Amino acid sequence: MLDKRLDKINNLIFDIAAGNFRPQANIEGEMDELDAVITGINMLAEELERNTISRSYLKKIYDGMSDMVFILNNNGLIVDINAKVKTISGYSLDALKFNSFNTLFPFKNKVNFAELKSYINTYHKKDNITTDFITAQRSIIPVVCSFSMIRGNKPKDNIIMMIVKDMSELNHIRKELEERSKELNTFIYRASHDLQGPLATMQGLFNLIDIDADDPEKLKNYFALFKQSSSKLHKVVTELLDLGRITASGINYENIMVVDIVNEIREENTSNFSKVNFNIINSQDYAINTEPQILKSILYNLFDNSIKYTSPEIQTEIKVEILDSNKGIKINVSDNGVGIGKEIKGKIFDMFYRGNSSSKGSGLGLYIVKTGVEKLGGKVWLKSIPDRGSTFSIFLPHHNS
Ligand code: ADP
Repeated sequence: MLDKRLDKINNLIFDIAAGNFRPQANIEGEMDELDAVITGINMLAEELERNTISRSYLKKIYDGMSDMVFILNNNGLIVDINAKVKTISGYSLDALKFNSFNTLFPFKNKVNFAELKSYINTYHKKDNITTDFITAQRSIIPVVCSFSMIRGNKPKDNIIMMIVKDMSELNHIRKELEERSKELNTFIYRASHDLQGPLATMQGLFNLIDIDADDPEKLKNYFALFKQSSSKLHKVVTELLDLGRITASGINYENIMVVDIVNEIREENTSNFSKVNFNIINSQDYAINTEPQILKSILYNLFDNSIKYTSPEIQTEIKVEILDSNKGIKINVSDNGVGIGKEIKGKIFDMFYRGNSSSKGSGLGLYIVKTGVEKLGGKVWLKSIPDRGSTFSIFLPHHNS
C-alpha cells in the first residue's frame, strides 16, 4: 500500500518534470504526511501550469512556422525539429536526432560550430548564412540559415535554434524578375529603335520636300515614301499598343463567335486581306467566353504572317478551322506559304525575333500571339513543312465568367 502511494508520487513528479502538469494524483484521505506531500505537489503543478508556457504550446508555435526549425544542444547536435523539416527535406526526427547539424550541409559548406557558438554567445544570433542543404532524397536546395541562442539556467543547458529558409522558390522568382527586367530593357531599346527608323526617314523626306518643292515628279515619289514610313510607324505603334493591352492586368470576358472575329478582321483590313483566299471551316457556330480584343490581335498576326511569308508568285490561301471540345476551342490557321525551318522553330515566338532576312516586320507578331494566348490561359503550337506551308494551332479554354 505504502509502495503504491510512493509510486504514485514518483509518477506525478515525473509527469511534472516532463512538462505535463495536468494529471494530478488523488489523495487517499488518510490525512497523513503522504497525502500532505501529494496535495503540495498538486498545488505546485497548478501553479506551474498557470505560469509556464507548456511544451506543446511552444511546439505548436514552431510547427506553425513556414521555415525549417532545428533545435541544437550545446554541442551542435540536433535534438528536435519542427513539422516543416519533414515537409521540405523529408527527414524525420529519428533520422536526425543527435546528429551534428553540419551533416545537413555539403562538406564544403560546413559551419565551424565552436566559432559560431562563441559568436552567438556574444551577439545572441547570427543571421543570413547562405548555404546549400542536403535533403533526405539527397537533392540539394539553396537555403539561408540563422542561429540564435536560447539560454538555460546553466550554460550547459543553453540551446541553439537554427532556422533554415528554403530559397528555391525565391531564387526562382528572382531569376524570373531578372529575366523580365532584361526583356524589358531589350523591349525599350528595340521599340525605340523601331519607332526611330520611320521617324528619321520622315524627317529626311521633309528636308527633301523643302529642297525639291518645285519638282512635282520628285514630290510624288517623296510622298509615296512618306506614306510607307507612316504606315510602318502606325504598325509598330499598333503592335506596341496590342502588347500593352495584353500584358496589362485584367481580362474582360465576353461571349463571342470565333467566326465573327475572323470576319471582323477581314473587313477591317480589306487592303491586306482582300486578295487572300480564306477558307473557314466552322461546322457549327462555335462560341467562346474570352477577351475579343486579345483574340483579334492573335488571329490578325497569324493571318498577317500567312500573307507576308508566301512566295509572291503564289496565291495566298488561309484555312481557318474552328473546333470545339468541352474544355475549350481549338483554332488552326494554315497557310500555303514558305514554311518554317526546324532551325528557327524554337525562336519564332521570341520578342523581336525575325527569322527571315527579308522580313519587314518588327519581330513582335508571334510574341503578341504567344503572350495573348497565355493571357487567355491557352497554348499555341506549330506544324510546318518548308516550302509547303505552316499551321499554327491555338487552344483557348472555356471560362465560366
Ligand atoms: P515578323 O513577322 O515581324 O518578322 P513575327 O514574330 O510575326 O515577326 O514572326 C517571327 C518570324 O517567324 C518571322 O520573321 C518569320 O521568319 C517566321 N514566320 C512567322 N509566321 C510565319 C508563317 N506563317 N510562315 C513562314 N514563316 C513565318
